[in-house]
Amino acid sequence: MRKRIVAGNWKMNKDFQDAEDLMFEIADELADKGSGETEVIVCTPYVYLEMSSDIAAENGFMVGAQNLSQWESGAYTGEISASMIHSMGISHCILGHSERRSYFGENDKIISAKVDLALKNNIIPIYCCGEVLAERQAEKHFDIVRTQITEALFHLGKEAVSEVIIAYEPVWAIGTGVTATSAQAQEMHAFIRSLLTEKYGSDVSEEISILYGGSCNAKNAAELFANPDVDGGLIGGASLIAADFVTIVNSFR
Ligand code: PEP
Repeated sequence: MRKRIVAGNWKMNKDFQDAEDLMFEIADELADKGSGETEVIVCTPYVYLEMSSDIAAENGFMVGAQNLSQWESGAYTGEISASMIHSMGISHCILGHSERRSYFGENDKIISAKVDLALKNNIIPIYCCGEVLAERQAEKHFDIVRTQITEALFHLGKEAVSEVIIAYEPVWAIGTGVTATSAQAQEMHAFIRSLLTEKYGSDVSEEISILYGGSCNAKNAAELFANPDVDGGLIGGASLIAADFVTIVNSFR
């Protein structure tokens, strides 16, 4: 059975006190509403990982990082390595987010190195892929996503790739309030699963959770999550409001 997962991506938001308050609010909401079978991960800024993972561990959910360095260790001022993140007890890390690709020039080769370092350090990558609007309008979205999946993941063996969580995030839907339709999400998720089946077989592809990300909120999550190949969501803006985030966690039918 594939895992149902809802992960929050706080991005570069909240000062320390607000971040701590939000973690406690999420814990309280989860205690009130429960989370069913859904795995809950909150990806907080690096500087809050210790605080947030302590609160999460006491309240039955998990914390992830939002990035890690493509290098193992050494003279890379300002960088944070996979082994540092692992040594803080952090289990997950978002990799390949479109904001990293577009603002920080991360390409599939760099992201692939990060995926390897994450796995080597027992961190589960939440690997993001997705096309920009012009690519969808030119009907290139399947080619783009195929390339992103192939170049960043297909050097992995069956065992390693089975650890990865994939997030399909059409860039035109991220932070815009425009969501992919339920049919568009299902179509791309089924396509990604078919690529995984072709390469690794259905025993592997049927075990990999594929999350949808892009203006998913408390109102539209249930419809998106009702699709057979949508195993949950990667949530940006709505993860900053505890009640909305936990409503999304409980949006599986
Ligand atoms: C994201 O950045 O991963 C994301 C899905 O953002 P939002 O939910 O705000 O569109």
